[in-house]
Amino acid sequence: MRQVPAKVVVLGGGVGGTLVANLLAKALGREGRVTVVDPTGMHHYQPGYLYVALGQANGRWLVRDERTLLRREVDLAVERATKIEPDAGLVHLERGGKLEYDYLVLATGARLVPDLVPGLREGSYEFYSLEGAQRLREALRRFRGGRLLVGIAGVPYKCPPAPVEFVFMVEEYLRRRGIRERSHITLLSPLNRAFTIESASKVIQPIMEQRGIELVTFFNVEEVDPSAGTVSSLEGEKLEYDLLVLVPPHRGQDVIVDSGLGDPAGWLPTDRYTLQVEGHDRIFAIGDATNLPISKSGSTAHFEAPVVASRIASLVRGTAPNENYGGRVMCFLETGNRKATVLRFDYEHPPAPPQPNLIWHSAKWLFNRLYWETVPQGRLPEKMPMPIPTGRSES
Ligand SMILES: Cc1cc2nc3c(=O)[nH]c(=O)nc-3n(C[C@H](O)[C@H](O)[C@H](O)COP(=O)(O)OP(=O)(O)OC[C@H]3O[C@@H](n4cnc5c(N)ncnc54)[C@H](O)[C@@H]3O)c2cc1C
Repeated sequence: MRQVPAKVVVLGGGVGGTLVANLLAKALGREGRVTVVDPTGMHHYQPGYLYVALGQANGRWLVRDERTLLRREVDLAVERATKIEPDAGLVHLERGGKLEYDYLVLATGARLVPDLVPGLREGSYEFYSLEGAQRLREALRRFRGGRLLVGIAGVPYKCPPAPVEFVFMVEEYLRRRGIRERSHITLLSPLNRAFTIESASKVIQPIMEQRGIELVTFFNVEEVDPSAGTVSSLEGEKLEYDLLVLVPPHRGQDVIVDSGLGDPAGWLPTDRYTLQVEGHDRIFAIGDATNLPISKSGSTAHFEAPVVASRIASLVRGTAPNENYGGRVMCFLETGNRKATVLRFDYEHPPAPPQPNLIWHSAKWLFNRLYWETVPQGRLPEKMPMPIPTGRSES
């Protein structure tokens, strides 16, 4: 047993940071001291933004004090980390303080950068932040029908299913308000299909067709002209809109860039199995902050956290780390009308989503309700039963 507890610092108190801190404190006991650093000290359940935008939830349900989610023995510093010095094992904080670490976990998530696209901030709405979702809810309330365009203004972006869920759910919303007939809904996709994953597109596209939702492919947003009410693509297309909803471009956090740890977009070069930041044995990354070629999603962070906690605990004890991350992801995808499908995959197995049904809709609903009492504390089984599909479509 170590004489002096190992100092573990976790930057970010979102899904990944909170869970990894709780797992580490439990695994290390007196052998470690875990500190979470987060600038607001408030934890957001981001999947709920979708429901806020559609008037199905209010913001209060989505935000909790981070302290209430952490084990008692985890310290919380409500501070922004501004710089990391890997050689000295130091994190600098905005108000001038410093934290020493033996091990560092970077769980700083992604940053929305609307200003990368001219006109986007003034001319479009989004549901990727709480304030954005609240503004969109008001815009939708004022909407009396017309051309509603929904698109993605840069890859990668978190929760790839979210824009598709939004078009299905907004279609239902407009029907309920009796203005569906007066509205034309279009999904703008940067790819040749509705969704990044081909098997999911095969499930989604026929439903879009049935519901009269237009798909425009190869539309990489270049510019929005708010006064003309148009959005143009790099491919040279220009479309008119009455209401435009765009997922803003994402980048890594400033602290990653300013510390020279990220790639040009601020994502952390991360080993896909050990989750170590490349070239830094004592630094790990999880969640949206990594450069891994998998979905930026809460479930990714959820499956990565136990691997990082276990590897750090082994290193603290001087034993060989033996847990690897296999690329596991699980995302629900709402298709409206009380139906949803699910995407479950890993590095080796692509998803084979079932036809949308009430069961997966209910599972997502239940998950939304159970989140606060389960995920951040690690109370969902770490090895959550999640049979990886064999390639055949489940139904
Ligand atoms: C509309 C929407 C719907 C979604 N739906 C789903 C879904 O259904 N399923 C799913 O799995 N995922 C979903 N997601 C994605 C999911 O919310 C994110 O992928 C997840 O939150 C990532 O976790 P994270 O811990 O990496 O980052 P985050 O949860 O974003 O946390 C990052 C934390 O780091 C902090 N931070 C930032 N900079 C610093 C700094 N300099 N110093 C210290 N701390 C810092 C931030 O304040 C924040 O608290 C959705 C997201 C959105 C926007």
